[in-house]
Amino acid sequence: MEIRETSCTSILTRASGYLRRVCSHSLNPYVGCGYGNSSCGEGCYVRFNQWLLRGRQWGSFVDVKVNADTVYYKTVQAERLWAARKGIPFSIFFSSSTDPWQPVERKFRVTHRVLNAMLEEVPDILILQTHSSMILEDMKCIVALDRLCDLRVHISIEGDQDSLPGLPPPPCSVDQRIKLVKEFASRGITVVVCMSPLYPLRDPDYFFTRLVESGASAVVIDHFIGGDGTQDGSRTQRTRLPLAMKSFDSQALELSYREKIATIARNYLPVGISAPGFAGVYSSKMVSITEKT
Ligand code: SF4
Repeated sequence: MEIRETSCTSILTRASGYLRRVCSHSLNPYVGCGYGNSSCGEGCYVRFNQWLLRGRQWGSFVDVKVNADTVYYKTVQAERLWAARKGIPFSIFFSSSTDPWQPVERKFRVTHRVLNAMLEEVPDILILQTHSSMILEDMKCIVALDRLCDLRVHISIEGDQDSLPGLPPPPCSVDQRIKLVKEFASRGITVVVCMSPLYPLRDPDYFFTRLVESGASAVVIDHFIGGDGTQDGSRTQRTRLPLAMKSFDSQALELSYREKIATIARNYLPVGISAPGFAGVYSSKMVSITEKT
């Protein structure tokens, strides 16, 4: 793993593409991801982003934006005004192309410092997304931010199994991540489980029952077909993920599997599909709701 300290000139990126439906800005404290060689890295939508890779292999590098908090302070007012002029909330997706709580965070604490900066310069909406139990180390700060803005924690749990055949283990086990849901929900924080990209499930009813019991507020379901930036999932088709999914349940390769699982999930929780789901738009069995717009 090549770890490089870098200085950034901007840290709040104005949303484009599908993110426009989710937030006004994304914030990525790192470029690359230390979990890139774990199972989530295989189906990671970012691994195809040539602009970020710059010829490097996904999972082989992390660029650390060591001055991210300073740049946040410097630019936040202008970006807040930009959102206001657009007539949209100043809403930050943290993070869209890296994991804020990846292993190097222990050493560099970039995410931690940016969260502290946000306590002074508070966004309207803050979405924190991770695969990692390391987020618990920032619990105090996150609880404080939750009192100041509309905050939700997105925990990525693609399926109910720790590993699929032929893939490496995930950053944290499914049990550890469900425990995370419980930790945040028990403190009154909105927690959404993101199944993105959706993996084949062994026992959907049991899985969603566990999510309900842990206090999850909703679940977002996204399939690699349409989710990886191509209409037909052709980028993901080039990885080991489809074969791993197929060896478990070939149905899971079809986009219709997303609807099948969403129908079951709606018996338990509000469900968001793809980008609208990441934006906090969910539907339940009986009635459509829009949460936290
Ligand atoms: S943790 Fe997130 S950003 Fe990192 S490899 Fe996994 S899916 Fe990609």
